[in-house]
Amino acid sequence: MKYNRCGKSGLLLPQISLGLWHNFGSVDRFENAQHIALTAFDKGITHFDLANNYGPVPGSAEENFGKIVQNNFNGFLRDELVITTKAGFKMWEGPYGEWGSRKYLISSLNQSLKRMNLEYVDIFYSHRPDPNTPIEETMSALDYAVRSGKAIYAGISNYNAEETKKAVAILKQLGTPCIVHQAKYSLLDRWVEDGLLDILDSKGMGCVAFSPLAQGLLTTKYLKGIPENSRAANPNGHLQSSEITEDKIKKINALHEIALERGQTLAQMAIAWLLKKETITSVIIGASSVNQLLDNLGSLDKLAFSNQELQQIENILK
Ligand code: NDP
Repeated sequence: MKYNRCGKSGLLLPQISLGLWHNFGSVDRFENAQHIALTAFDKGITHFDLANNYGPVPGSAEENFGKIVQNNFNGFLRDELVITTKAGFKMWEGPYGEWGSRKYLISSLNQSLKRMNLEYVDIFYSHRPDPNTPIEETMSALDYAVRSGKAIYAGISNYNAEETKKAVAILKQLGTPCIVHQAKYSLLDRWVEDGLLDILDSKGMGCVAFSPLAQGLLTTKYLKGIPENSRAANPNGHLQSSEITEDKIKKINALHEIALERGQTLAQMAIAWLLKKETITSVIIGASSVNQLLDNLGSLDKLAFSNQELQQIENILK
């Protein structure tokens, strides 16, 4: 595993990180989740990404990950791990259980630490911007998280380019740099190329890309439609069958042909394509099995693209 510097910070993150949005909840098989996490660590994945609401049920991914840490990684291994969590989406009832108030963010971080049985997380993210809370207040909660030692670094997620500029400036003024932006980015969703990546570059921040496989669409799984045993067929999955359009299936099949010519799986090519950009510090994958994790790690064997391959990919996506 190669470790990339997150922007201009001191933090190194593995090229591939593991996300626990799906497959680690109380509805999932714990032994499978633990096997995936341990295999990831054995392969050099030191960075595990969570959020307060991951499950289902919300909170259960943190509880399960806490058990995995207790069972396997405790003691000095904690210092070999980067564990991240977030608050922003709905977590509990009432007016204080979502968005970006100081009340919500700090209460939520305290809950996350309890669920994972940790003293601190490595990155605490504001999970989404809140149009109704002054951004100064949301950033002050991230600043507090770091100053109190409950988090080591501060990050933001799902902020657009303008919101990012504001958030970063406020945190800088507070003396707690914002080192990372976690953004949705894949061959099928390239919104970050429209300004955000340039801003992150200019501010010395890293970008951690989530849903690099478009929740599984950028694998061989959906070449012929929606199979059983897939996120789109799973009632707890967030991939809606309406998102799997004929146009996308056509594109995925064409991309698959290029991947075959490169001697890679489509998943491997999709990850390699993201990692070729310097601003992308790490790609956070999800996996429902160890085999998927190993397939995805295979992307690191071939990261380079010829200009011709890149052009072919652009032609398919345009
Ligand atoms: P991916 O795009 O990597 O999708 C992962 C899913 O794709 C797997 O669960 C599996 O689904 C399928 N898959 C993965 N590898 C393969 C393979 N090799 N062959 C076939 N199918 C495969 O990422 P996610 O959407 O899961 O997101 C990753 C992480 O990003 C999350 O866990 C979370 O940490 C973070 N994230 C952050 C968000 C934010 O707002 N900040 C929002 C969303 C995610 P299955 O087998 O079930 O079909």
